[in-house]
Amino acid sequence: MNVLIATDKPFAKKAVDGIRTIVEQAGMTLSLLENYTTQEQLLGAVSKADALIVRSDKVTREVVQVAPNLKIVVRAGAGYDNLDLEACSSRNIVAMNTPGQNSNAVAELALGMMIYMARKQFQPGTGSELRGKTLGVHAYGNVGRLVAGLAKGFGMEIYAYDPFIPASVMQADGVHVANTLEDLYSRCDYISLHIPANDATKGSIGKSLLSLMPQGACLINTARKEVMNEEELEAVLAERTDLKYATDIAPGNIDALRAQFDTRVFATPKKMGAQTQEANVNAGLAAARQIVAFLKNGDKTFQLNK
Ligand code: NAD
Repeated sequence: MNVLIATDKPFAKKAVDGIRTIVEQAGMTLSLLENYTTQEQLLGAVSKADALIVRSDKVTREVVQVAPNLKIVVRAGAGYDNLDLEACSSRNIVAMNTPGQNSNAVAELALGMMIYMARKQFQPGTGSELRGKTLGVHAYGNVGRLVAGLAKGFGMEIYAYDPFIPASVMQADGVHVANTLEDLYSRCDYISLHIPANDATKGSIGKSLLSLMPQGACLINTARKEVMNEEELEAVLAERTDLKYATDIAPGNIDALRAQFDTRVFATPKKMGAQTQEANVNAGLAAARQIVAFLKNGDKTFQLNK
């Protein structure tokens, strides 16, 4: 069995070495395509693969169609909007992600962004503290619950909204349950976004929610840019000169936002939530273990295209 790592943004060496060990100990071979620059390179490499590990690389219909032996694709990371799940299903290819493996890295970044915005992007002047402020965790999944835990350490009061998680789970963590999004947004000084980008959430964060936020509030987005209504964001920031927005995924209109709103807006130069050595290694090793478990024992625990 040939396991291919195809990454235009490579894993850390430690991750590749760990993946190799797991794959070879299972009697399989590892191929490596790193820093590729053309789709042809990807198509050529994947045509011989039984299993594929990617990071943010796009696994399109074209990719799965040129790979007659491909049985499993694993996105080493949480979000999987780079995988064409329908195309995978149409070829009976199991698609997986590695949930939870980079959550701590993202959660720490979210807290870092809150402090950065509270301290006016480290510009001279008087900032504010997180202690005593309310935080709204929008989606209480792997990242959301870690953000809640870290923020508690800062003395914040935490609310969360997630219709798919029982209220008892949040309450057991000492988190208040918001029954509606309107309730969450209107209560919280900070909102931290952790929803996936899907048909229900794309473009869903816009004027109707943002304008409910209290005076001086700040929205932190380490989820996906697609969940924002970027035009409405710009309009609300213009209208509400107290609101702030920090994101790990620069919006299409970032230049316009920066020009108009200065330190009220921040975007990382390149998505960096999961870019820690630890997350890199955790996600890569998890992907390798999941591939071995599937190919050897048919384990489909993390299958996305059920
Ligand atoms: P997760 O799957 O563990 O959690 C997602 C949560 O969203 C689940 O609890 C689910 O119940 C909830 N949810 C789904 N639809 C919802 C809706 N309509 N309203 C409210 N809640 C809803 O995912 P995660 O690992 O916590 O990741 C969260 C987000 O962070 C994803 O968008 C992911 O793509 C993104 N992410 C970004 C980076 C980065 O580098 N910035 C890295 C990892 C993950």
